[in-house]
Amino acid sequence: MPTLSTQTLGYPRIGREREMKRALEAYWKGEMDADALWATFWEVAEAGWRDQLAAGIDHIGVGSASLYDPALDWAARLGLIPPRFRALAGLERYFAMARGADDIPALELTKWFDTNYHYLVPEVDAGDLLPADFSDFLALVERAQAILGTRAVPIVLGPVTLLRLARLEGDFDAALAALLPRYAALLDALQALGVAEVQLHEPALVQGDAALRAPLEKALAALAEVGVPLNLVTFFDDVGDAYPWLVRLPAEVITLDFTRGDTLGLVQRYGFPADKVLAAGVVDGRSVWRVQPAQVVPLVEALRALAPNLRASASASLQFVPYSAARETELSEALRGVLAFAEEKLAELATLAQGDMGAASAAWGRFRAFAPADPAVQGRVAALEPADFARAASYAERRPQQIALPLLPTTTIGSFPQTAEVRRMRARFRRGELTRAEYHAEVDAFIRHAIEIQEEIGLDVLVHGEFERSDMVEYFAQQLQGFAFTRYGWVQSFGSRYVRPPIIYADVARPAPMTTRAFEVAQALTEKPVKGMLTGPVTILNWSYPRVDIPRREIAYQIALALRDEIADLERAGARIIQVDEPALREGLPLQPARREAYLTWAVDAFRLATARARAATQIHTHMCYAEFGAILPAIDRLDADVISIENARSGDETLRELADYGYSREVGPGVYDIHSPVVPAPEFIHEKLAAFLTYLDPERVWVNPDCGLKTRAWHEVVPALESLVAAARELREKI
Ligand code: GLN
Ligand code: ZN
Repeated sequence: MPTLSTQTLGYPRIGREREMKRALEAYWKGEMDADALWATFWEVAEAGWRDQLAAGIDHIGVGSASLYDPALDWAARLGLIPPRFRALAGLERYFAMARGADDIPALELTKWFDTNYHYLVPEVDAGDLLPADFSDFLALVERAQAILGTRAVPIVLGPVTLLRLARLEGDFDAALAALLPRYAALLDALQALGVAEVQLHEPALVQGDAALRAPLEKALAALAEVGVPLNLVTFFDDVGDAYPWLVRLPAEVITLDFTRGDTLGLVQRYGFPADKVLAAGVVDGRSVWRVQPAQVVPLVEALRALAPNLRASASASLQFVPYSAARETELSEALRGVLAFAEEKLAELATLAQGDMGAASAAWGRFRAFAPADPAVQGRVAALEPADFARAASYAERRPQQIALPLLPTTTIGSFPQTAEVRRMRARFRRGELTRAEYHAEVDAFIRHAIEIQEEIGLDVLVHGEFERSDMVEYFAQQLQGFAFTRYGWVQSFGSRYVRPPIIYADVARPAPMTTRAFEVAQALTEKPVKGMLTGPVTILNWSYPRVDIPRREIAYQIALALRDEIADLERAGARIIQVDEPALREGLPLQPARREAYLTWAVDAFRLATARARAATQIHTHMCYAEFGAILPAIDRLDADVISIENARSGDETLRELADYGYSREVGPGVYDIHSPVVPAPEFIHEKLAAFLTYLDPERVWVNPDCGLKTRAWHEVVPALESLVAAARELREKI
């Protein structure tokens, strides 16, 4: 069988040793100069190119390297510099756009499609552009060419996706018309460098938006004229209804994602043009697992028959996985054998192209024997009945049985400042410098402090403060069976912030209670109610790497059952209010609209499974933040939580209006101030916010709380802010 050629769409940019993080932080502190920062950047970028070259990749995507974020890079190159940054120049301007400067707010940071990566939202005003300047990109490409020769394929963020993601001043077509000549000039310059092809990344096409057809046709027509071969790249889902016209656009190569949605079905139904190359994303850039030969081999065979000019590609940039699984020597060999991070994925592309999957089959065989199904867990999931997914009493029946609180009850979202002392305490315990008993005593001192402060401030519903939690998912994952943790498995969340998602490698179960100890300690210190505080099943799932050969729905149900048991334990410990956070519910939404309903059904069911067995008298809260909820209001309603707290401060009450318009009938705590800003809100500010809420909601249904947890703030900011919050609530209470 002829071997296939291979392709990548981007590579991790943080450095194997997190070099970029260290360099950026040192640069921002003034401890490193720009030359040294750039030196680190080039080392990391070149090491990535060399890895890909050594693995034998034929078409190596070049351009995912970035000091902060590629979307920001493209905004800057294309001249999309909002006026507020124009007094600055060079790196100072670049980082001001990324992080803000004195009085200049940064570009907005938001999630990149359905990933946990965050990009900076370009602001486009077609009537007011600065000149484009592609020199840094051209220099990058030249440097890559010096190492890779014609294997270097520039990655360009396509104009339609850029505009679709941008904040637009004026209309889309005018902005596109303004940008296309700039893109054409860029392609010209790339052609002059002798590149064999250019990847035009247009992932916006997987969102089922038919309105993108005309602009994309226009863009491709204009850009094809330059004459450099184009590779139109989409990823993260199938392209749905766009497929028949998309594959006929004037591009020499079409890259599609075969790891999500049903791209194979589309190719089978509509065929693939014989004169084009199909670059098939068959190695999943977003999963940490090796390919499963039983699936990928037949897939590749089917594609060979349908598209004679076939390439094997990563399905997406490899930035969504860490560098090296081989390095995780603390993980068992059986598990490591089926993990594939970026470096292993390069090797997989090469073996797949040669059709040699024997080693992968053997590894999966060893792994399945090592992590077999847990009959107790699977039996529990199999035995679930409709009653497991619904609370026995309706909201109207539950409400009078639940805790009585003053009008406009005040509370917080859970975490209090994670100070250096708090982090040091956890680190010492991790390193074995504290016994468990000593550690608990230290945690309890922080809890006592937090309770005292909350009582002094006069909050109505207290929290223990989450000092024992490094992270809202990791804390639970570490106590559940079925999770594994990497040592070096960092992936970029945004800029210099990286996360290390846990890996769900086996059936999930809860060997012992996870949160009752801290709850009991806190509740024993106060007469006021303390909230039990849990992370929801969908958030735990979405912020982990789930095992590929178990349906996500099933994993979510397994986690939900563990949480259900935790809720029962919290009730026995005396909790009358239990909060189950689901900030990641929205981001799991499939990009193709056709698949959204199915996701929302099982995701909401998982939350209901976790909470349905709570007593009628237990008030179940949930919390969500930093997402647009408009599209999923029916799902939020179906959660059947007694109270929901939501991020609201930045959106100008939009979320609240949407909820009210939808006719949401239970209690709501719209955030009254933005916890991401160090600004301490005055009582008048909060009073005004609350007064506005009351124009949408009955006072009986309004809670008063910040936008989100307070862990990133300092106590000297938190205390006066919460004092304002309580003062405003009290004042308004009097008036009602
Ligand atoms: N309870 C969590 C906290 O306060 C919620 C965090 C979140 O919504 N992301 O930190
Ligand atoms: Zn939040």
